[in-house]
Parts: sequence; C-alpha cells; structure tokens
Amino acid sequence: MNLRRDFEDRDDLAAYLREQFPYAEGGVSPFVGGRAAAEEHLQKFDPARYAATRNFLDGAVSRLSPYIRHGVVTLREVLERFGGRRHYKFVQELAWRDYWQRIYQEIGDGVWEDREPSKTGVSYTADLPINWGRTGLACMDSFVEELETTGYLHNHARMWLAAYLVHWRRVAWQTGARWFLRHLVDGDPASNNLSWQWVASTFSGKPYFFNRENLERYTASKYCSTCSRKQDCPFDKSYAALSQELFQL
Ligand SMILES: Cc1cc2nc3c(=O)[nH]c(=O)nc-3n(C[C@H](O)[C@H](O)[C@H](O)COP(=O)(O)OP(=O)(O)OC[C@H]3O[C@@H](n4cnc5c(N)ncnc54)[C@H](O)[C@@H]3O)c2cc1C
Repeated sequence: MNLRRDFEDRDDLAAYLREQFPYAEGGVSPFVGGRAAAEEHLQKFDPARYAATRNFLDGAVSRLSPYIRHGVVTLREVLERFGGRRHYKFVQELAWRDYWQRIYQEIGDGVWEDREPSKTGVSYTADLPINWGRTGLACMDSFVEELETTGYLHNHARMWLAAYLVHWRRVAWQTGARWFLRHLVDGDPASNNLSWQWVASTFSGKPYFFNRENLERYTASKYCSTCSRKQDCPFDKSYAALSQELFQL
C-alpha cells in the first residue's frame, strides 16, 4: 500500500490518517515525529531541574521517550549531552531503559510472562473493567483520556494508573500492558511490560501502590479538587490500611 507522504499541514496529515485507518482508536498524537522535533525537545530540556521535580506532573521531564523509542535520538546521544555526575538522577532513568532492553534481548516474549511469583496473594481477571475510563475518579479517568488522545503519560501517572488497574481493580498486568501498548507513542514491550511487572510485584520484591496524599502532592490536588468521588475516594487511606485491604500478605 502506497501512503501519501506530502501534506499541506499537520491537520491535512491527521485527516488523511483518520480516513486511511478509520478503526484506529484515539486521536493523532500531538508529538510531532522526526529529528527537528526531537531537537526542540533536546533544546528545551533542563537537566538541572530534573531530579527535584521529575515526580510532579508538571515537573521538568524531557518527553524524549517517543524519539528514543523510535531511534530518532539514541540513549548515548542523550547521555553525552546531559549526563555527568551532577545529573545522576537523569542518568539513572536512562539506565532503566537500557536495563529493560538488555533483559528483553535475553528473554524476548518472556516479557509477557511473570518473571517471579506475585507477592500479593491475590488472583486477577483478564478483562478491562466495563467502566474503564468512566469510573468517576477524576484522576484515573483523566489519565485514561490523556493516554488515549495523546499517546503519552507522565511516568508517575503510568505508575498510579497501572497500580489502580492491577491492585484495586484486580486485572492481570498483561491486560493493562497490552492496552498501554495500543496507545503509547513510546510503546515498547521491554520498558512497558517490565514496568507493569514492577508495579504488579512479579519483577520486584513488593507491589507498588499509592494513596491519595501521594497523588495530591504530585498533582497539586488538581484532580481531587473537582472529583465527584472525593468523599468516596478508594485511595484516601493510610498505606497500612490499603495494604491490608488490597493484598493477602
Ligand atoms: C506502567 C509503565 C509503563 C511504561 N511504559 C513505557 C514504554 O512503553 N516506553 C517507554 O519508553 N517507557 C515506558 N515507561 C517508563 C517511563 O514512564 C517513560 O519512559 C517516561 O515517562 C517517558 O517520559 P520522558 O521521556 O519525559 O522521561 P524522562 O523522565 O525525561 O526520562 C528520560 C528517558 O529515560 C527513559 N526512562 C525514564 N524513566 C524510565 C523508566 N522508568 N523505565 C524505562 N525507561 C525510562 C526514557 O527513555 C525517557 O525518555 C513506563 C513506565 C510505567 C510505570
């Protein structure tokens, strides 16, 4: 199939893609492909603010993942440009990608299998919940919408959403991983699946979960302040209480 390569502008490209792929879910990602766009991201990135702010949704993260994932920028280039002792936290995050890739080279499709037994003592269902994206929880519904329309989510939002699906909704991590890969513009079976396994506890010593205080802190309460379920928030408990409720330890 010969696809058109010249477009008047991005809207023209988006309209053409919608016409050619009518069954594709979500919208056209705001991430623009190619080296020039990657260069803009490289120019904008401020590694000095990274360590202190990276966990906040509005923190100084690079948003380079789609370009790294598709080989527009290499990890080595990013490391050479921004690495060094002062930016150790950023280097550490680049190292996670490298680590997951090395495991993938060794085990291939084994990334779809539990690397270790789960530590939660809980059993899981295979399907996404029927109200997925319409739970009434402003945070989770917004993350679902953002992922489906932009193809990108901040790392902390990925962690919260994955933990919610696996630990609160008791859905198998593979189902979540498959759904993420359908939407992420940086979707990568190594980083994605092994991160889901880290959340689920099949590739880590304990499950990752969070509470409302943690989510409010890193989002400046922007979801909780308007949430219709703020009086009935499943995350509004201490870690000890949540651990008892969620896991059979
Ligand atoms: C459930 C879940 C699924 C994920 N799926 C993917 C995926 O499919 N593809 C993907 O590239 N990343 C994935 N990540 C890792 C991480 O969320 C993204 O790499 C990061 O959010 C991309 O944003 P950024 O470029 O601004 O990252 P920055 O924080 O600016 O980091 C710079 C680069 O380092 C790498 N990196 C950073 N954090 C991680 C990490 N925890 N694991 C691996 N590499 C990292 C990425 O290449 C990233 O572009 C996932 C994380 C979770 C929790």
